[in-house]
Amino acid sequence: MMPEAAPDRRSASGTTPAPGRATMAVPRHRVVILGAGFGGLSAAKALAKAPVEVTVIDRRNYHLFQPLLYQVATAGLSPADIAAPIRSILRGQANARVLLGRVQAIDRQSRDVLLQDGRRIPFDSLVVATGARHAYFGHDEWEPVAPGLKKIDDAIDIRRRILLAFERAEMTTDEETRHRLLTLAVVGAGPTGVEMVGAMAELAKKALAADFRAIDPRQARILLVEAAARPLTAFPDRLSAKAKTQLEELGVELLLGAKVTRCDDAGLEIEDGEGRRFIPAATVIWAAGVEASPAAKWLDVPGDRAGRVPVTPHLNLPDDPRLFVIGDTALVSGADGKPLPGVAPVAKQQGEYVARQIRLALAGKSVKPFAYRNYGNLATIGRKAAVADFGWIRLSGTLAWLLWGAVHIFFLIGFRNRIFVLLSWLWAYLSFHRGSRLITGADF
Ligand SMILES: Cc1cc2nc3c(=O)[nH]c(=O)nc-3n(C[C@H](O)[C@H](O)[C@H](O)COP(=O)(O)OP(=O)(O)OC[C@H]3O[C@@H](n4cnc5c(N)ncnc54)[C@H](O)[C@@H]3O)c2cc1C
Repeated sequence: MMPEAAPDRRSASGTTPAPGRATMAVPRHRVVILGAGFGGLSAAKALAKAPVEVTVIDRRNYHLFQPLLYQVATAGLSPADIAAPIRSILRGQANARVLLGRVQAIDRQSRDVLLQDGRRIPFDSLVVATGARHAYFGHDEWEPVAPGLKKIDDAIDIRRRILLAFERAEMTTDEETRHRLLTLAVVGAGPTGVEMVGAMAELAKKALAADFRAIDPRQARILLVEAAARPLTAFPDRLSAKAKTQLEELGVELLLGAKVTRCDDAGLEIEDGEGRRFIPAATVIWAAGVEASPAAKWLDVPGDRAGRVPVTPHLNLPDDPRLFVIGDTALVSGADGKPLPGVAPVAKQQGEYVARQIRLALAGKSVKPFAYRNYGNLATIGRKAAVADFGWIRLSGTLAWLLWGAVHIFFLIGFRNRIFVLLSWLWAYLSFHRGSRLITGADF
């Protein structure tokens, strides 16, 4: 159980009451939450009625619905459709405030969070929920040529690269260059990679099909490179085989059992059963690995290989029960003894769990260890093509696709976003058009 909060003379703003102006108010327990992603936001909301002061710190002013980021990258949705200002989400929560700032360190001794601009934010309980970023397995030099998809800026950058590749292919008269420009590769066949190639194939083969004169966008090669022998390895074999078939029907070429050994401006080198070969490709997108935010460094604890912080079954540090780590940043095992996956439902449930623990601890009560309830896994491939694994039932095709759409609309934050996304999808479904084909940040 968590010990009672020690009284602290400072207010949450970090200031000490001036001498002679002693306040009679009992200081409230200060909960500082780092990150307003799925985990942090669910913790903040679940503390709405608790007798605590909540401070949410994020380096961005918006909460991002990452599962639909690939649709921004492939011109299906606009950035604002999948993001909502953190302030407006917490507007009605009187005990919560939002600070824009980048966490740089945590002083466990003085119990302060240190922000990059020098501010110190004191806490009694701390919830670290700063997520993960993409990882290049020791090849960070590949990042500029093979960007990953994590932020709105990444999605806009990828959208620019994809759309510019078609524009440049239209301009060039050199056949070899045109071929390279019309070859687009995604590395990593997890849900994000599969969703990306599916959407890229639909963009090239449907939405752009009639818009060019010198090129036929339908001739574009869309490659999915994966080191494992099958796509969607987290899904059962049967669904993974269905996904493979559905991708091939969309015209995606799957290069399975293929490891990327080099990426540069000209393309990517892969190694598979046939040896090494170079594939000229102007657009390479990285969806192959993640690494936790540097929370292990901030907390001065050893992280695992992916940088995740090992926590107790109560999601706190063994030597500091009021210091919680959740979501993609935490390493915690599920009922099967395997680490819980880095997915939104895990982060959300963990956020709610630590909020309950903080509430109960303040009332002198304890909680059972965290237990994740897995309601199922979904991945979409394209129009009427998806896979869904609920354990007791496994679906693919149109039904799985409809379910995927319903779940994503349901979990999107903000009524406006739900309506806009629904209308965009309806329009895209009826017309095959993509409404957000803007090339920004590139002048000719
Ligand atoms: C492209 C993509 C597609 C995905 N698709 C799915 C899907 O279909 N289904 C699914 O369940 N999961 C999906 N995921 C995974 C899911 O989004 C994550 O598991 C989930 O977001 C983890 O929640 P979190 O709260 O741990 O971190 P996040 O939601 O990533 O939130 C972390 C927050 O911390 C902030 N932050 C980070 N560092 C700092 C710092 N130094 N200072 C201040 N703030 C900081 C960030 O700005 C962010 O707001 C996807 C992820 C990606 C990238």
